[in-house]
Amino acid sequence: MGNDGGSIPDRRDLVKSKKKAEQADKNNQTRARWFYCALSKAPLVEPIVSDALGQLYNKDAILEFLLDRGAYGDGEEICGHIKSLKDVKTLKLTPVTSVREGASEEDVPKFQCPLSQKAMTGHVPFVYLVPCGCVMSQAGFRALSTTPPASPSGGPQLDVCPQCATKFDREKDVRQINPPEEESTRLRLALAAAKAQKKSKKRKSEAVSDDPPSKVAKKGTDKESGHLVASRAVQSSLAMEEAKRKASMSDAVKSLYGDPTKKRKETFTTMGTFTRYA
Ligand SMILES: [Zn+2]
Repeated sequence: MGNDGGSIPDRRDLVKSKKKAEQADKNNQTRARWFYCALSKAPLVEPIVSDALGQLYNKDAILEFLLDRGAYGDGEEICGHIKSLKDVKTLKLTPVTSVREGASEEDVPKFQCPLSQKAMTGHVPFVYLVPCGCVMSQAGFRALSTTPPASPSGGPQLDVCPQCATKFDREKDVRQINPPEEESTRLRLALAAAKAQKKSKKRKSEAVSDDPPSKVAKKGTDKESGHLVASRAVQSSLAMEEAKRKASMSDAVKSLYGDPTKKRKETFTTMGTFTRYA
């Protein structure tokens, strides 16, 4: 690279070009998303689950998150939409059959497409099917999944998973794993919108089920009198406690200073203190 006197370095050798840095950064991000748990950032180990956004997680990290939503500092930001195990699907992955020689261990993909044998590295798009969790490359899936002829009964037309023959709905059951940024933004917005809709629906149903105003008013007075009774009970119990405390204190005082009803027995020292402080 120069600087040893043997050659003269020019700007190109000394200044890292921004483009290269950006590319490296992008590669790192891709690796992070396809090889590591989106929540715990630990290497992905089966069982692996995915959510509505197509992000990959270790199932144990999600379990930990569901038990303690603060377990990972930014958990709410990453997967706050996951409220139970119903919001994730355990993936059926196909281990790689052939490992490219010379690749460092952490670069070796662990899974591949069962249809096209393409490795799951983030360089080709992969999808999973929501009903069965089968994971395959988008290309392989498109090439092999065929829409069966319309059912004679006229029911909803379902496709069949090319891997395990589970039926799925082509419209909503195919999710891309780690989709490009625009798509994941769109999915996040859709999730937020669905959540808001659910909330407003809930509020509406609550409003409908509310008691008529007269009943509410009656309930209110009932509540108040109940409160009064309760506070009275608390008061009396407090008074009892206080009396007990006083009694025990006077006992203590008695033991300390002796029974005042008995004739006071003065010693030289107490006499001294009394004359000084009385
Ligand atoms: Zn399947």
